[in-house]
Amino acid sequence: MTLVSVGHASVRYPGGVTALDDVSLAVDRGELAAIVGPSGSGKSTLLNIIGTLDRPTSGTVRIGDRDVAALRDRRLSALRAREIGFVFQQFHLTDGLSAAENVATGLLYAGVPRRHRRERALHALERVGLAHRARHRPSELSGGEKQRVAIARALANGPSLVLADEPTGALDTATGRTVLDLLRRLNEEGTTIVLITHDRDIAAALPRRVEIRDGRIVSDVRR
Ligand code: ADP
Repeated sequence: MTLVSVGHASVRYPGGVTALDDVSLAVDRGELAAIVGPSGSGKSTLLNIIGTLDRPTSGTVRIGDRDVAALRDRRLSALRAREIGFVFQQFHLTDGLSAAENVATGLLYAGVPRRHRRERALHALERVGLAHRARHRPSELSGGEKQRVAIARALANGPSLVLADEPTGALDTATGRTVLDLLRRLNEEGTTIVLITHDRDIAAALPRRVEIRDGRIVSDVRR
């Protein structure tokens, strides 16, 4: 069953840059797909339109049975908060908050009542093996642990889709591998994941690899 469907999408920026050029891509529920390609090829732009953070200049994006273009910004924010979890290269954790509070913050925007937030945050930390770090601040965590907290935040609301932009890009190889193993396990548990990676070994090991160049998909291989 298709979860994400991008149809003939182009993204043009003022000044004449075409970041995406007539891209069509469907991602089924349960997939784990890597987007690869050189710097500047349009990977982040593609992830941003899938994540409904940007709208394409032309073409369509559907998440589940909803056409993103038909939704007003408020509806779109609600859809995003409920359905999509984001993971970034630089973690984007808030320094003054504990791991549990960082995870719970994501639930605030999803409209989860306060009394449920902490419990769900702790459960998400458990899923990434960090229950014992719930009270730690980001500055007291290693890079790999920070990324696992960020993944817990992305998961806390039970999204259908997790989007990760270079989730291992700021980590050493061994730590990156543990983060990737975690993402694989979460995928096996049912979460659909699309990630961007520069790492050829990582991309080669994943079930699907979508390669993009100059804003176009040049190969799409499932193993
Ligand atoms: P990648 O993630 O593969 O490095 P991006 O999707 O970030 O590539 O960028 C694709 C192209 O679009 C690049 O040429 C980049 O310079 C350009 N671009 C990205 N964002 C903007 C923007 N806000 N305004 C103008 N050009 C942009």
